Amino acid sequence: MSIASYLAADHPTAFSIEVLPPVRGKGIEQVFKTIDRLMPFNPAYINITTHRTEVIYREVSAGIFQRTTARMRPGTVAIAAALKGRYGIPTVPHVICSGFSRTELENELIDLSYLGITDLLVLRGDRAKGENRFIAENDGHEHAIDLCHQVSNFNRGRMIDGEEHEALKEKFSFGVAGYPEKHEEAMNMEIDIEHLKAKIEAGAEYVVTQMFFDNARYFAFVERCRTAGINVPIIPGIKPLTSLTQQALLPKTFHIDLPMELAKELRRCTSNDDVKALGVEWGIAQARELKAAGVPSIHFYSMNAAASIEAIAKAVY
Ligand code: FAD
Repeated sequence: MSIASYLAADHPTAFSIEVLPPVRGKGIEQVFKTIDRLMPFNPAYINITTHRTEVIYREVSAGIFQRTTARMRPGTVAIAAALKGRYGIPTVPHVICSGFSRTELENELIDLSYLGITDLLVLRGDRAKGENRFIAENDGHEHAIDLCHQVSNFNRGRMIDGEEHEALKEKFSFGVAGYPEKHEEAMNMEIDIEHLKAKIEAGAEYVVTQMFFDNARYFAFVERCRTAGINVPIIPGIKPLTSLTQQALLPKTFHIDLPMELAKELRRCTSNDDVKALGVEWGIAQARELKAAGVPSIHFYSMNAAASIEAIAKAVY
C-alpha cells in the first residue's frame, strides 16, 4: 500500500520520522541507532532527505585553497533500500531538483523503481550555499512542480527524451512540501497555496509541512488549503528543540516563528539540557493537540533529536 493510500485510510494518528544520510566518510550505524531507538513506536514510514552538491574550498598548502564540489551527505537511495530491507517498513526518499539534471533524476527514478521503492517526497531542494537565489542545473528543473510532472510522466512510461514505454506497473506515489508560515520566496500566502495546489494537480497525493512550533499556524494553513480546494492529507512536521543555538538558527534557516510562550521559556534556559527538557514538554503538548485533532500522521524531524522524540512518542503514542 502506498503512503498516500495509507494516509487516506481510517487509522489512529501515525508516527513517522525523517532521517538524514550520514556526513560523507561516516558509516550508516548512526542512522540505524536513531531508528532502533524509535522502532518501538512503530513508525509507519521513514523519510530520507537528499542533499545537493556543495562547493568546497580545500586548503592544499598554506593559504592556497582549491575549489572542488562534493555531496556532503550522499547515499539517499542506498539508505532507503537498506532501511526498507532491515526494518521492513516503507521508506520515502526525497527527490530534489537542486543540483540534479533531469537525466540524473530520471536515472534515480529507474534505480528506485528497480529497488521497489515507489513512495517519494518531491521537492525543489535548497539553493546552493553562497547563492542568494535558487539556480537550476543546466537541463534541471526550476520548481518542484516540474519534477512532479517528470515523475507523473515516468509513471506513464514517458521518458524525458520523448521515448515512450509501457506505463509502470508499480507507479510512484508522491507527496510535496507545504509551509504553514509561507515559503520564504513566496510573495504572499495565497500565491504560495496556489503553487501548492498546482503540485497536487500535477500528481502529488499528500503534503508534509515545514516544521512549526505553533499549532494554530498549522490549523489555519490547513483551513486555507481546504478553502483553496486542496483536499489531500496535510501531514504536520514537528521538531523538538534541543539546543540554545536554535533560538536564532531555526527562524533564520526555516523562516518560522517561535511563539511568544515558547520564546519566553527558551530565554530562561541556560543550558542545552534545559532546552531539551523544554523541547520535550512543548513537543508533547503539540503532538497531543495534533493527535486530538485527528491528523493522519505526525512527522518528526529527527536530526539530533532521537532521544527527545522517543520521550515525546512515549507520552503520546
Ligand atoms: P517549490 O514548490 O518549487 O516552491 C519554492 C518557491 O517557489 C515557493 O515560494 C513557491 O511558492 C514558488 N513556486 C512554486 N511553483 C512555482 C511556479 N510554477 N512559478 C513560480 N513560483 C513557484 N530540501 C532539500 O534540499 N532536501 C530535502 O531532503 C528537503 N526535505 C524537505 C522536506 C520537507 C517536508 C520540507 C517542508 C522541506 C524540505 N526541504 C528539503 C526544503 C525545500 O527543498 C525548500 O524549502 C525549498 O526552498 C522549496 O522546496 P519546494 O519543494 O517547496 O519548492
